Amino acid sequence: MDFGEVKFTHIIVGAGSAGCLLANRLSAKVSNRVLLLEAGDWDGGFWLKLPVGYYKTMNNPKVSRHFATEPSVGSGGRSINWPRGRVIGGSSSINGLIFIRGQHKDFDDWAALGNSGWAFNDVLPYFRKFECFNGANSQFHGHHGELQVSELRNSHPYCNAWLDAATQYGLPRNSDFNAETTEGVGEYHLSIGSRWRSSSASAFLKPVQHRKNLTIMTKVFTERVLFKDKVAVGVEVLANGKRHKLFSESEVILSAGSIQSPQILQVSGIGPAPVLKRCGVEIIAESPNVGKNLQDHYQMRTVVEMGSNNSLNKQIRNPIELAKMGLSWALRGRGPLTIGAGQVGGAMRTRHAPSSKPDLQLFVMPLSVDKPGEPLHTYSGFTSAIWQCHPKSRGSLEIRSSNPTDDPLIEPNYLSDELDQKTMVEGIKILREIYQQPKFRDLWQTEIVPGKKIQSDDQILDAIRAGGGTVYHPVGTCRMGVDKHAVVAPSLKVNGVRGLRVVDASIMPLITSANTNAPTYMIAEKAADMILHES
Ligand SMILES: Cc1cc2nc3c(=O)[nH]c(=O)nc-3n(C[C@H](O)[C@H](O)[C@H](O)COP(=O)(O)OP(=O)(O)OC[C@H]3O[C@@H](n4cnc5c(N)ncnc54)[C@H](O)[C@@H]3O)c2cc1C
Repeated sequence: MDFGEVKFTHIIVGAGSAGCLLANRLSAKVSNRVLLLEAGDWDGGFWLKLPVGYYKTMNNPKVSRHFATEPSVGSGGRSINWPRGRVIGGSSSINGLIFIRGQHKDFDDWAALGNSGWAFNDVLPYFRKFECFNGANSQFHGHHGELQVSELRNSHPYCNAWLDAATQYGLPRNSDFNAETTEGVGEYHLSIGSRWRSSSASAFLKPVQHRKNLTIMTKVFTERVLFKDKVAVGVEVLANGKRHKLFSESEVILSAGSIQSPQILQVSGIGPAPVLKRCGVEIIAESPNVGKNLQDHYQMRTVVEMGSNNSLNKQIRNPIELAKMGLSWALRGRGPLTIGAGQVGGAMRTRHAPSSKPDLQLFVMPLSVDKPGEPLHTYSGFTSAIWQCHPKSRGSLEIRSSNPTDDPLIEPNYLSDELDQKTMVEGIKILREIYQQPKFRDLWQTEIVPGKKIQSDDQILDAIRAGGGTVYHPVGTCRMGVDKHAVVAPSLKVNGVRGLRVVDASIMPLITSANTNAPTYMIAEKAADMILHES
C-alpha cells in the first residue's frame, strides 16, 4: 500500500452502503481522484454472498464490529448488541436484505423541517437511479441501476395464511410497498440478484474498482480528520500499526455510518464542547448535536408454536428438505436460502398514530429464534414482529476518550417516550388478534413469546422491555437541518468548517418508517449529484 504524497480530490471514509455508491459516482468523473478508505477487508467468502448468509455473518467479528449500548430501563436493564458491517460493502454486506424506501411522507417531513430538496418527489429520481427492479414497470421503480432488487423468492404456506388472516383482521393487501404507500400487508422486496446478495460492494464498487482515478484502501482505519484553519485537508489513518496522513484537495467525506461518523467528528474536534473538553480533544468547531438525535427501531417479536412441522425450524433439520432448499437456490435462485429478515408484513395505523402516517411496521417469518443470528428453535416456530415506525424517544452517542479506536458510549434511550410504549403494547395486541383470525387460528397451538400469561398492558410493556431489541437501524447522529445546531446542512456539508461532508445514514433528521438501507443509498446518490454539480 502506498501512502506517498499523492493528493486526492475526494477522500471517502467508509466503504459501506453510502461509501461504495459515492465512490462509484465521484470516480465517474475522470478529473476526480477519489480515495476510498475502509477499516475492514474485501468481502470474500460464500456467506457474505449467499442471501441468507447474514445469519452467519452479522455476528462474525471478522466482518462486523460489535458495539454495546449502555444498559437502560427501556431495554429492561440490558445492554444491546449493535453489529455494523466492517467489510467492503459495510452493513449492506451483512444486512437482512429487505429493500424498502419508507413512506413518502418520511421524506416530506425532512423537507418540512427546512431541508429543501429532500421531499419525496425530489428524492424519487435518486431512488430510481440506482435500482434495477425485476418486477413490473412503474413510475416508482428504476430498472437500469446497478442494485438488483427482487420480488420475494420464497412462498411459504404459513406466511400466506398470515397474510389472509391480516386481511380478515382488516388490513388491505399491498402488492408493492415501494410504490404509492407502505400501508397494508404483502411481500417484501429484497436486495438480491439472480442468486446472490446485491450489496453496495457488488453493485457499485466491484464493477468500477479498476478505474485509474479510484484508489481503494482496505484494512485502513481512519482516526481523525485533519484541519488547517477550519478547513478539512485530509485524514490521519492507522494501517498495520503505523500512522499516515492522506491529503485531499477538495473534500473529506465521512461515510462511516451512524456510530462512527459522529465518533470521527468528535475525536477530530467537532462536537459538544463539554464532551470534547472532558476527553482532552482540541475544539475545532463546537457543534452540540454531534451524536445527539439518535433514533433506532426497537422491535418486539411474538413467537407461536405451529401445529404442523412446516416451520423452517423443522425443515432445516431434515436432510431431504435441506437438499431441496439447496437445489431450489442453485437451479432457480429461489427458496428458503433467499429469505430476508422478513418475508411478508406491512404497515398500519394503530389508534395511537399521531398523524395520517402508519405508525406500525409488521414482519413475519416462518421460523423462530431467540435472537437474530442464533440457531433456529427445535420446535415448529413462527414469528410475527412489530416496530414503531417513528419513535419519539431520542438517544445519544459520545466518545469516552480521544482514542478513536475506543468504542463510544451509546445510550439509545429506547421506549423513554410514553407514546412509544403505548404504540408497542398496542402492536403486540394487534399481532395476537391476527393470530386469532379464522385463516390462522387453527394452525398454531401455543404462544411462546411473550406467552399467554402476559396479558395486562404493564405485563406486555415489561415483556417488550425485557425481550425486544434493535433491528440495526441507528440513524440521526449527524442530523441534517437548517437550524443553528444542525450538524450538517441540506448540502450535507458539516456546519462550522469547510471541506467536510457527512454522507450516510447518520444525516437523517427523522428515522424513516421502515428499513434504512434503501434510504441510505438515496442519500449517497443525491450527495454525489450535489458534489458533482458543485465541482
Ligand atoms: C445486521 C444488520 C441487518 C440489517 N438489515 C437491514 C435490512 O434488512 N434492510 C435494510 O434496509 N437495512 C438493514 N440494516 C440497516 C442498513 O444496512 C444500514 O442502515 C445501512 O447499511 C447504513 O449504511 P451506512 O453507509 O450509513 O453505514 P455502513 O454500511 O455501516 O458503512 C460504514 C462503513 O464505514 C466503515 N468504517 C467505519 N469507521 C471507519 C473508520 N474509522 N475508518 C475506515 N472505515 C470505517 C465500516 O467498516 C463500514 O464499512 C441492517 C443492518 C445490520 C447491521
